[in-house]
Amino acid sequence: MGDTGVMIHIQSLIDDAKCFETVRTLRWPDGVSCPHCDSFDVTKQGRDDTQPERQRYLCQACERRFDDLTDTIFAGHHQPLRVWILCLYFMGLNLSNHHIAHELDLNKDDAQQMTSQLRQGIVLKKPSPTLTDEVECDEAYIVAGHKGKPEEVVKKGGTAGADASRGNVAAAPSQRRSPRFSG
Ligand SMILES: [Zn+2]
Repeated sequence: MGDTGVMIHIQSLIDDAKCFETVRTLRWPDGVSCPHCDSFDVTKQGRDDTQPERQRYLCQACERRFDDLTDTIFAGHHQPLRVWILCLYFMGLNLSNHHIAHELDLNKDDAQQMTSQLRQGIVLKKPSPTLTDEVECDEAYIVAGHKGKPEEVVKKGGTAGADASRGNVAAAPSQRRSPRFSG
């Protein structure tokens, strides 16, 4: 049988550098952008003092600093990033909270809290901008899926691709008297 009785600890197989790389790919699929002003004009500013894989940045547009974890659910959390990433991985395998807690040596409450946070997304939600003065809203179409009515979607200028399939809100005030919509 060999040494199959040896316990393999999954956390020791995980590389911190890969974990930070994973976070960057998840939150910035189009390249690093400033969490404060969304600018892509960003320069690297060395690494974190205690976590050498954690990249720091300076935004050239608003001159504020941030790093890989700024505004994410991982920032300031006592669990190391690799525990979160493994948690995400196990969620992808459909493991129960109980099972995840066991694999990662967490208590069940922590595992429960982490999985529910991860389901909300890794980037913290910004408060919606407050609208001031008069706000006018023109007519809007709401296309909530197009099951059985593909021709409706085509008529309204939607595509059969990704957007049309997940409920599409399109304001098209200038087209409302277009003959395309009359019948
Ligand atoms: Zn900025």
